[in-house]
Amino acid sequence: MARVSDIYGSMVFNEHTMQERLPSATYKQLMKTINDGEPMDLEVANIVAHAMKEWAIEKGATHFTHWFQPLTGITSEKHDSFLDPCPDGRAIMSFSGKELIKGESDASSFPSGGLRATFEARGYTAWDPTSYAFIKDEVLCIPTAFCSYTGEALDKKTPLLRSMKALEEQANRVLALFGEPHRHVVATVGAEQEYFLISEKDYERRLDLVLTGRTLFGYAPCKGQEMEDHYFGAIRPTVNEFMKELDDELWKLGVSARTKHNEVAPAQHELAPIFAVANRAIDENLLTMEKMRLLASHYGLVCLQHEKPFAGINGSGKHNNWSVSADGRNLLDPGANPAENLRFLVMLTCVIQAVDDYQELLRVTVASAGNDHRLGAHEAPPAIVSMFLGDELGGIVDALIADCEYGGCAHESMDLGVDVIPSFMKDTSDRNRTSPFAFTGNKFEFRMPGSAMNLSDANTVINTAVAKSLSEFADALEGVPAEDFEREARRYIKGVLCAHQRIIFNGDGYSEEWPVEAARRGLANHRTTADALPSLVQPKSIELFEQFGVLSETEVRSRYEVELEKYNKVMNVECRVMKRLVRRDYLPAINKFAAEIARHIAEVRAVLPDADQSYQEARLRRLLEGAHVINEQLDKLTELHRAANELEDQQERANMNAYEIVPVMDALRQAVDQMEVTVGRECWPVPTYNDILFYC
Ligand code: ADP
Ligand code: MG
Repeated sequence: MARVSDIYGSMVFNEHTMQERLPSATYKQLMKTINDGEPMDLEVANIVAHAMKEWAIEKGATHFTHWFQPLTGITSEKHDSFLDPCPDGRAIMSFSGKELIKGESDASSFPSGGLRATFEARGYTAWDPTSYAFIKDEVLCIPTAFCSYTGEALDKKTPLLRSMKALEEQANRVLALFGEPHRHVVATVGAEQEYFLISEKDYERRLDLVLTGRTLFGYAPCKGQEMEDHYFGAIRPTVNEFMKELDDELWKLGVSARTKHNEVAPAQHELAPIFAVANRAIDENLLTMEKMRLLASHYGLVCLQHEKPFAGINGSGKHNNWSVSADGRNLLDPGANPAENLRFLVMLTCVIQAVDDYQELLRVTVASAGNDHRLGAHEAPPAIVSMFLGDELGGIVDALIADCEYGGCAHESMDLGVDVIPSFMKDTSDRNRTSPFAFTGNKFEFRMPGSAMNLSDANTVINTAVAKSLSEFADALEGVPAEDFEREARRYIKGVLCAHQRIIFNGDGYSEEWPVEAARRGLANHRTTADALPSLVQPKSIELFEQFGVLSETEVRSRYEVELEKYNKVMNVECRVMKRLVRRDYLPAINKFAAEIARHIAEVRAVLPDADQSYQEARLRRLLEGAHVINEQLDKLTELHRAANELEDQQERANMNAYEIVPVMDALRQAVDQMEVTVGRECWPVPTYNDILFYC
């Protein structure tokens, strides 16, 4: 077996390869573009393209593609071969700087939220040199941004890159006040990806999973996650083989997959990489998701990345670990004495302010039909955004607000009472698993994103909102004489913390009291996507994006349209699948089983007219009643679904989906699930939760 260090990054045109393959002047020029954002001229691009092509062909590539992230959130690619036929009948392989820098594609089939009419179909992809090109399945993939003919961003990457620039600029203003000017500041992200693995055989028989990614029906399994025996449990051999191949493939792509383990729910797992610069980390996460889906088939498995594939057991999230680093140093590292670490306190304060001020916008970034089933479901953070700081930082913040000396936090060592076990220092705070935005030692962990999401939206908002609070700090402190700086900075911090104290909550986010307390504090609680999305187009949000050049008003509005439409389309498909399954699978199965029982009763009666068949008769009645309730709910759903589809206004339709259709879908599901446990196994048309979740 190859050593990890030999294969790691072997399919990536990374800095090491660039240095090896490019003339040194070109390499330096490219680095200036990557690190300092300097524009690149065509001559340099031509040299880079040539080197990239030679490298890719050596690795077996035949095609190239501009790899981008349209507003669907997933990745898109269109393969072009390097082939260039010559007049004499031969062919050479070519790839020019122009082809590297810019691609033109028909953008009309990607969502644009009204930014582009079908007759103005031209769209452009533009190379993002800050994320490495890589080879996947014999195709050289070039990460790109995607925009319309008129220059509006039509993708997830462009605003993310713009937000990173804003963060860098504002952080540098603040760092300059600390005597540390001109740093290379980046947002760093580590995305923990949760997913389910189930057998292909079961999957194929569940049209709901195939078409919607989640089970629209299914009674709770006899055994759920209550034994707590799956979390961190020994990994089953097939899954282990899958994970090993996944690691290998990811390592080749330079994705630093690090941690893998079984998650809480049966058949649920997690993969966490080592964090990277935000835009690269998000590209890596998308690659990871793709590899998971593709490689699962090698093992007769299917990888489910939906936020809630199974009702009643945990859904899947994607924790977004976020920090800021300046020339490689983590600005959220509290150091040994955080109370005295003014630069850290400023950063912390600015993040607190950003999360409080833009809590609704953060909520928007995690709103989707799938995540609606997860947020607030006693397994994931509630739909209310709040922050957890832990004992030590919480104590420091309290002391700053109360204007008193921070008494310090005991750094205790852990003694297990067993001499052979080395003693170690305890963390200064315990974990809080219920907080949506938790400080975890030297980074924040945003836990609301769902497993299927592209993390660009969340990080775009975090970066931009933090850029804003940093800019306000800089505005207030620039010009203050050096000798007054510390005092003024502390005063500023105190003011901001007092104003934003409400966002800090160290208690149990799953408790029933919290939504009540949160309402008292004036925190927003947008339960569904339909409630959350309008915040995107509030003047406050548009101003933020425009102030930092992250999105224009037109771009923001188009994104709102796209997200609304996406939500409504998902709901529409789910309704259709539900209706189809009930009519064509569930009702016929129930009727067939009922007829079997009726026949059985009649047959017994023919032989033994006075036999007691009350139990069979009761069962038959239950089946008939069940079918009746199902029919009733089906009619209701059909009626509402038709009415929803007639609504022109997408927000109205979303509201109808969230508040009228979802409850009927739930009732219909419940009625069918009730029958699942009444109808004989042989007659039930699909594999049940028991079958799907507990396989070998
Ligand atoms: P846990 O399950 O306790 O949250 P994990 O080890 O699964 O912890 O995940 C933590 C994630 O946070 C990893 O992806 C890790 O690389 C990432 N991380 C660590 N430090 C930083 C940082 N400074 N910026 C961003 N992400 C970070
Ligand atoms: Mg985590």
